[in-house]
Amino acid sequence: MPSSSFRKHPKVLFVTPEVFPLCKTGGLGDVSAALPAALLELKTDIRLLLPGYPAVLAGLKSKRKVAKLDLLPHFPPATLFSSRLQVNESVSVPLYVIHCPQLYQREGGIYLDSNGQDWPDNAQRFGLLSKTGALLASDASPLAWVPDIVHCNDWQSGLTPAYLHYHPGKKAISLMALHNLAFQGSFPPDETVKLGLPPESFSMHGVEYYGNLSFLKAGIYYATRITTVSPTYAREIQSEPLGFGLQGLLAERSNDVSGIVNGIDTVIWNPATDPHIVKQYSTRSLAAKKYNKRALQREMGLEENALIPLFAGISRLSHQKGYDLLLQIAPALISLPAQLVLLGSGDSRLEKQLITLAQTYPGKAAVRTDYDERLAHRINAGADCFLMPSRFEPCGLNQMYSQCYGTPPIVHATGGLIDTVVDLNDETLADKSASGFYFHEMTPESFMNAVRRAIGTYANTRLWKTLQHSGMNRDFSWRTSAATYLSIYSSLMQQQQSS
Ligand code: ADP
Repeated sequence: MPSSSFRKHPKVLFVTPEVFPLCKTGGLGDVSAALPAALLELKTDIRLLLPGYPAVLAGLKSKRKVAKLDLLPHFPPATLFSSRLQVNESVSVPLYVIHCPQLYQREGGIYLDSNGQDWPDNAQRFGLLSKTGALLASDASPLAWVPDIVHCNDWQSGLTPAYLHYHPGKKAISLMALHNLAFQGSFPPDETVKLGLPPESFSMHGVEYYGNLSFLKAGIYYATRITTVSPTYAREIQSEPLGFGLQGLLAERSNDVSGIVNGIDTVIWNPATDPHIVKQYSTRSLAAKKYNKRALQREMGLEENALIPLFAGISRLSHQKGYDLLLQIAPALISLPAQLVLLGSGDSRLEKQLITLAQTYPGKAAVRTDYDERLAHRINAGADCFLMPSRFEPCGLNQMYSQCYGTPPIVHATGGLIDTVVDLNDETLADKSASGFYFHEMTPESFMNAVRRAIGTYANTRLWKTLQHSGMNRDFSWRTSAATYLSIYSSLMQQQQSS
């Protein structure tokens, strides 16, 4: 909430549906830990708000009851706990957890049940997250600590700016961060009133979107500021097809939209100190990477051969990630010859196709269809080259992890992949900035051309080493991006003061 004199260090409530290591389904989980930790180091007074799924409650060492939330009409009774999230050895971030057994205490995923279906009460589950975010960001908060800024993340907290809009008292400034526009949180219109929003909010100039209640559209419509996770994606979402229907609204608000590339946790993703890999290495001891390759080949049942190029992929399995295209080129890639290691979970049809691929090419292709954070580290360290054929990619993290591990990525030239990987060409070779390979068309030919370019480069040991060094020397830390968020918070507070 704005104070009468401009404070240097903003107070920020960071509302998120997932955070690593307590609960994570994708990049948002990583960002929700690493960005607040980086902001805390820049002296931002930042606190997280998160639903109390079983894994969250079980994962916290200690927690304290700080408020009862049973006065929220339209929602089951809940309790607010205060705790701390240990992000890495040196940083822990204050955390509020909503304990609402009726909505969050159940077996299954965060968003999906064990059959892969959305929980039928997701509107209520994330309505409560949004509503609590708005409550804590207003003068009705039961807590003494009241933020200046409420930083909302994705559709699950998209109603927070809407609730705040209809709150008559003082309130924080809202920022809506878009991590992936493909997920919008769309629900039947009658949910609007059930979630305690006024009927008049269900309009084109409000939460309504093509006849439904859209959490994400509400966030984009009502938030004071909008951010997304890379400059290229910020442009792409203002037109078809990557605006997923919201391009008109985003283009209208383009002066309020910024693209800030995600960082990564360079403590967790550092091959020089990584406890999950068999042999640690850095640019000065890059030769030691070969021990990780051999260990990965052994672990995954591949032929142990130092000379054969080893390609890898780690991903959620969904249409977005382009693994259907990867499956199409896999036979040609393996016959180069090359090896392939894939770790992915999600879409059950893709999982089955990946398993069939491994069965068809024993010793050459290996697949794991579960979620395994440690194996992800061993793959980044052991592979020669990383594959990321995403149809679209708001930012993407794995291409940054792989560059840090001296494993140049081959990426579809889209979104954040463009902003974080430098394609190898004459110019980038000359200035030594090249760190990977682009392909431009989502076709097997275009993808295979990039693979052949990579293989050609790999054959030139000196050139390959230059590529590896350039990726490993890049600064993917949160430092710069966190400072940009901080300057946005500060300018929002200044604007509000002067208005
Ligand atoms: P998205 O958020 O769209 O899934 P990102 O590249 O931004 O994509 O982030 C994906 C994160 O999830 C990375 O940290 C990646 O390593 C991790 N990940 C995805 N699938 C798996 C898996 N099956 N096992 C381990 N880690 C995974």
